[in-house]
This record gives sequence, structure tokens and C-alpha cells, in this order.
Amino acid sequence: MRRVVIENAHVATVSGEEYPDGHIVVDGDRITAVGPGPAPEAGAGETERIDGTGCLATPGLVNSHHHLYQWASQGMAVDGTLFEWLTTLYKPWSKMDAEVVAGAATAGLAWLAKSGCTTSTDHHYLFPKGRGDLFAAEIEAAREIGLRFHPARGSMDRGESQGGLPPDEVVEDLDTILAETEAAIDRYHDPSPGSMLRVAVAPCSPFSVTRDLLVESARLARGKGVRLHTHLAETLDEEEHTREQFGMTPTEYMDSIGWLGPDVWLAHCVHLHDTDVKRLAETRTGTAHCPSSNARLGAGIARVSHLLEAGAAVGLGVDGAASAELVPLAGELRQAIYMQRARYGPTALSARQALEIATLGGARCLGREDEIGSLAPGMLADVALWRVDGFQAAVDDPVVALAFGPVPPLERLLVGGRTVVAGDTLATVPQDEAGRRGADAHRRLMRLAEEVL
Ligand SMILES: [Zn+2]
Repeated sequence: MRRVVIENAHVATVSGEEYPDGHIVVDGDRITAVGPGPAPEAGAGETERIDGTGCLATPGLVNSHHHLYQWASQGMAVDGTLFEWLTTLYKPWSKMDAEVVAGAATAGLAWLAKSGCTTSTDHHYLFPKGRGDLFAAEIEAAREIGLRFHPARGSMDRGESQGGLPPDEVVEDLDTILAETEAAIDRYHDPSPGSMLRVAVAPCSPFSVTRDLLVESARLARGKGVRLHTHLAETLDEEEHTREQFGMTPTEYMDSIGWLGPDVWLAHCVHLHDTDVKRLAETRTGTAHCPSSNARLGAGIARVSHLLEAGAAVGLGVDGAASAELVPLAGELRQAIYMQRARYGPTALSARQALEIATLGGARCLGREDEIGSLAPGMLADVALWRVDGFQAAVDDPVVALAFGPVPPLERLLVGGRTVVAGDTLATVPQDEAGRRGADAHRRLMRLAEEVL
């Protein structure tokens, strides 16, 4: 079995101790030792030794909310509210095909890897007819880049004619959605330990799907033993919408149809009432916090510190690149800290709490805290090794340097023991090519969308 030994690094395990001069030993796809000082003597076999001098080792970051296809539609409706932005972008999105998704996902996942992400989810909820297998395209991109992947088969079934926000031509009907979602689970979901691919079920949002779709999606997901995801309480417009249509806040509405629970994680949760915070905590529902996207759309500041105080699971996410252009996941630590503090004061979120939501918190959202999100023997070998001996060296505490400073260079990124980034450069696909494929996807989508823009 192939062994990787990292020594002389500041090791932040997240779930336990920090070792200022520590080691990590990886055998195959698992961590077998973590501790202070040099690594225990290795037995026979091939060993790669990495000198971690000047580096901070953390668990690989977990991205808990994304829309990879949006890489192809960045920089549009830049001053719109969420609803204005969506109604502008539904048009070009209705023209996307599998080639657009493949290129966008390749660039988006490469970008995530470059900012220390080892596991990403993706929420894909738009499937225009006759444009190829979009879900397969992003799964293939994740395999190529080498990240652990939790794609969510999303959906919308409530178009304008039924009181929803999206135009009718971008929504699917309930039966098609359920059949396609079940087929995606059967084809791709791997529940086995160490899995690189798990599928979730994800109707898009309360203002774009019917109550029936939410109820039937929960039934399907629970029958199959997969997780549920959606957007919730992102903007005040949404609360207005659910109050008008259902007479409830978004959280109350979801609660009323069995959509809160330990197998559910929700993107945003910006506009929560005290009772909502309490319900999310007591039902062990996860929240994916996307601070840059919330700021870019002027949506508001999520009550992350209150959710954490209440004991709720909170992960970090970049959200789609169309509402948070080129945001690096590691940079969201600082963004989360700054926004919490700007609103709730200087003790609202610490550097170590931010690192924890970006790792273990995200793992909890995905139901994988027993395998990823911390560094301990038996965990999967998903490790980010950050260089903090350059400009960052002027800050004594390397966790503070990572959380408060700009994203440091990545000396190494391991996913299941496999090198995905080395020397701050993508190792699995030529980095420039990944960027080019993303730009090509953008140009292709703009060409396909010419008639509707
Ligand atoms: Zn989103």
C-alpha cells in the first residue's frame, strides 16, 4: 500500500489537538497516524515523504453549496436582487447543454481544488430538454479533477403560469423529475465507505417548485437513503412569497412538509426568526453558509453565530460563480468572519470556528463527519497543506494567517491520499487547460443564448 508521510508541519486536526510541529501518516486512502513530532518509523513499502516545514496542515475544505454550470454565466446582472438576477439568467441557462456543463464544471472544480477543497457538492436544477446528459457531464468532470463529489439532482416544476418565478420553458414536470432523479441515484450513488460519489435530491427553492415535488422528493430520498438539499430563506422576497402563497415563513413551510431533519441541509438561511434557528438546531438540519454570494446579491448576513450557539450544523459554500465570481473557498473563511463581526461584533466568529465550519461543519451537512472534515487515524486522507512561510509568516498563528489573510499557496492537496494539487498547481489536469475549458463553456453558452439575450 502506498504511504505518504507529512512531517514538520503545524497540524490543525479541527476535531482535537493542534500540533505546532506535527506529522500525518497516510496509508492508501486513509490517515493512519497524526501527532506531535516526527512520524513513527515506517515499515517496508513505497513511501513519499513531504517536508511540511513552513506549512499548515488542515483537513481538506468541504464546499457545501455550489452550481458549477454557472461558471459559464459569470458577470451578468451584476446589480440585481436575487429575483432580478434569476429572471435575467434563466434565459441563457435555458440554452445550456452538456458541453457547457462539462467545461464549466471542469474549471469550477479546478478552482475549488486550488483553494483547498477536497469535497464539493453541486446543486444542478436546470435540465433543458434534448441537450445531452448534464448530470453525467459534471460527474465526469469531478472524476477527472479528482475531487470527492456530492452532486445533487435538482429540479424546478413551478413556472410562471403556476405562480413560480422561473419561465415555464425551464421547468420539468413532476413525473419526469422523480423518474430522472431516481435513475441518477441508481446509476451513480455510492454509499460505500470512502465513497467518491454520493447523490442528493434537491428541488431548487420554495418559489420555483410545488409542494408536491418537495413531498415526493423527500419520500424518494428517504426511501433510497440519500440526502435532501435546497435553498432556503435567502432573501426577504422569498419570505414575502411564502407568506403570501402558504401563510408561513420559509422555515415553517419546510417544517410543515417534513423537510427539516438530520438528512437535510439548506443553502443560505439568511433570514431566520429565533424560532427558525431553534428548529434548525433541534431537528439537526444543516445550513450551507455562502457569505460572498449573499453579499454580492445584497441578500443579507446569515445568523451563523446564532446557529452555531444553538448547536446547528453549519458548513461553508462558494455558491454558483454567477452570484460570486471566482470566489476561492478558502477565502470564504475571512468573508464569513468579517460579515459575522460586522453585524454581531468581534467575538461573533473566530478563526478556528471558521476553519471548523469549512471542514467538519461541511462534512456534517453531507453526513460524512465520520470520514472527512478532520484529521485523525481512520479518517479519509483528504488533507490541505498550506504554505504559510511567505508573506503569511509575519503572522505567528498559522490558523489566523489562513483565516484572516489572503489564500496562501497550496503546497499539496490530497484527496483519499492522491495528489490533486502540488506546488500550488493542479496536478490532475493541466491547470491552464482547465481554465480554458471554463472560458470556452462561457463563450459557447453566450453563442447558444444569443437569440434570447
Ligand atoms: Zn445556490
